[in-house]
Amino acid sequence: MFTKRVLPALVAALIALLAVLLIRTFTPTADQSAGEAFDFRPDSDRVTRLMSESVRFKTISFGRDKPTSATELLAYHDYLEQEFPLVHKALKREIIADYSLLYTWQGREPVSDDNKPVILLGHTDVVPVVPGTEDKWTQPPFAGVVADGFIWGRGTLDNKVNIIGLLEAAENMLQQGLQPKRTIYFAFGHDEEQGGIDGAKVMADVLLKRGVQAEFLVDEGGLVTQGVVPGIDAPMALIAPAEKGIVTLQLKVVGEGGHSSMPPEQTSIGILAAAIAALEADQFPRDFSHTQSFLEAVADDMPFANRLVMKNLWLFKPMVMGAFEGDKQAQAGMRTTTAATMIKGGIKANVLPIDATAKVNFRILPGETPDTVRARVISVINDARVEVTFDGSGQRGMAPSPVSPTEGVGWDHLTAAIRDTAAPQRLIVTPRLLVAATDTRHYRKLTPNHYRFTYMQLEPSDLASIHGTNERISVATLNDTVRFYFRMMSGL
Ligand SMILES: [Zn+2]
Repeated sequence: MFTKRVLPALVAALIALLAVLLIRTFTPTADQSAGEAFDFRPDSDRVTRLMSESVRFKTISFGRDKPTSATELLAYHDYLEQEFPLVHKALKREIIADYSLLYTWQGREPVSDDNKPVILLGHTDVVPVVPGTEDKWTQPPFAGVVADGFIWGRGTLDNKVNIIGLLEAAENMLQQGLQPKRTIYFAFGHDEEQGGIDGAKVMADVLLKRGVQAEFLVDEGGLVTQGVVPGIDAPMALIAPAEKGIVTLQLKVVGEGGHSSMPPEQTSIGILAAAIAALEADQFPRDFSHTQSFLEAVADDMPFANRLVMKNLWLFKPMVMGAFEGDKQAQAGMRTTTAATMIKGGIKANVLPIDATAKVNFRILPGETPDTVRARVISVINDARVEVTFDGSGQRGMAPSPVSPTEGVGWDHLTAAIRDTAAPQRLIVTPRLLVAATDTRHYRKLTPNHYRFTYMQLEPSDLASIHGTNERISVATLNDTVRFYFRMMSGL
């Protein structure tokens, strides 16, 4: 009796559920169709030479306490002036804060609400080669060797690709008599790798003082790659509309000291260790929204079973989040991460420690701030004996960025240029949270629309070379970088 009435209802419900799942699975989320090819080709030999020679300028940022070579920075300025004569004739170049470069390319039409300027960033400084890894480089890091279809050396990807790409695209446009409708600023900082305080921030302040309000900004931080998501073969353009913040907190416990023969139940080291263990056991809550935007944009390209799941996250989200548990990269995109990185305490094996200190580094997800992080840390540790302060004198960390919209004028210009550069090949354009930091943060007041992306196609295995060993850029992708900027700026 019972089953006769309930079973048909159950079957009907299951069929309805299945229908919903399937309809969602087969309804496209994002238009990921190919762009339109255009016929501009840069002079590949020249572009290769420009990058190779750029690498030889040792514009290394060692940290704010050890200055970057002024000679190298200024020699690089002269080099750019010599190699891009049309740019240096048509654009206004200003040297800001002694070493940063601000170019203004006046637009064809005056600035208005519908014709706001665009800011394009790059940086001329590079990170040092990690001591002890010199002999692991296949080619010397500052020689600019061209071999196997690559230009090798420190700074090729981070970030001389933006400098050469933008200037060469502009030089080509000027050769063809092209001038963008909008005013374009190139802002090339000289200290991105040490925080951008002395260069990028000063340039941003100069622009702000001049009353500049930009439509959008494009900086480094995203790229084209493939193989990121199992089952998707098409290359993906990862654009970062947001980046995480950073804060380091110091935990300090002061003990009474004395001889180790008569210890208290917990020494200052024990109290500190318990505090760190508590933080590791009680991680920050997860926010799936950034991962979800990424997955939704790429889901249409997934094999059926994965697509069914990803397009029905309303049902399967807990399962997907469970699958990402233990995946370091996925976790970094989902929560404020906790990393105990330094610890110090005690002077002798038979002496009770007085001061015990530790440093814990947090990468902050948008939505939180250094202050909310500290407040949560204090509450999780829940022990008044542990003092929690911001590390570094006067430093209170760096808040995460706001999340820029993945629609609107800037997004549309950028994504159209990306698709057209790849055409006739189709690629998937998707937002992705950046877990590192860029100069973009200094420009927050100039526009709410920040996109971190450089058109360079890298094999996943080459990603680690950024700030690592064997940094190199392929000649083919460097040509595409120039084409991309040409296409984007021509449309502005
Ligand atoms: Zn960089």
